[in-house]
Amino acid sequence: MTDRPHWMFTDGTTMPVGTMYCIGRNYAAHAAEMGAAVPTDPIVFLKPPSAYAATDSVITLPSFSTNVHHEVELVVVMGPDRTIAGYAVGLDLTARDLQAAAKQRGEPWATAKSWARSAPVSHVVPASQIGHGPFTLSLEVNGEQRQHGSTGLMERSVAILVDYLDSIFTLQEGDCIFTGTPEGVARVMAGDVATARLDDVITLTVQFA
Ligand code: MG
Repeated sequence: MTDRPHWMFTDGTTMPVGTMYCIGRNYAAHAAEMGAAVPTDPIVFLKPPSAYAATDSVITLPSFSTNVHHEVELVVVMGPDRTIAGYAVGLDLTARDLQAAAKQRGEPWATAKSWARSAPVSHVVPASQIGHGPFTLSLEVNGEQRQHGSTGLMERSVAILVDYLDSIFTLQEGDCIFTGTPEGVARVMAGDVATARLDDVITLTVQFA
């Protein structure tokens, strides 16, 4: 057991981390690299608060997977009454081998996607400071660029995702939305250092062990 994690805002405020809603295949080029189509309705999966890890964390790769992938994503952190409190950059870490097996068997993705510390997220920039995008997302691993894209290429915008998720789940303050990844997902290995950026405004750095 650990203490409930908190979002850390760049202005010094904090907020308990709630439910993490994650959207699959929200960029056409990533859907294509996975050999899949952009879905008619959004693909939604969840990560629990224990999936959160702060910037500068060391993340031990899970023993039950031999193929963990990075997916750099814009993270939307919700305020009260469906307002957007701020934006951050995060990694939707994915046990791709478990996900492939689950897809084949038609089973849920929870063990592939929602393990402890599978969601490292940067500090959160208040929306009042950064605006609402579009933003540029990028990811380097050991100094080499792996992913780069604009959130303007999302198939479904942040506003549409907020409406959709709220209509089904009722979004609450402290919940967040992982909005999907651009193309370029690949494996991370023990010893790798990943640096994700949102518009050169906020950076997430994690090391894998
Ligand atoms: Mg993802």
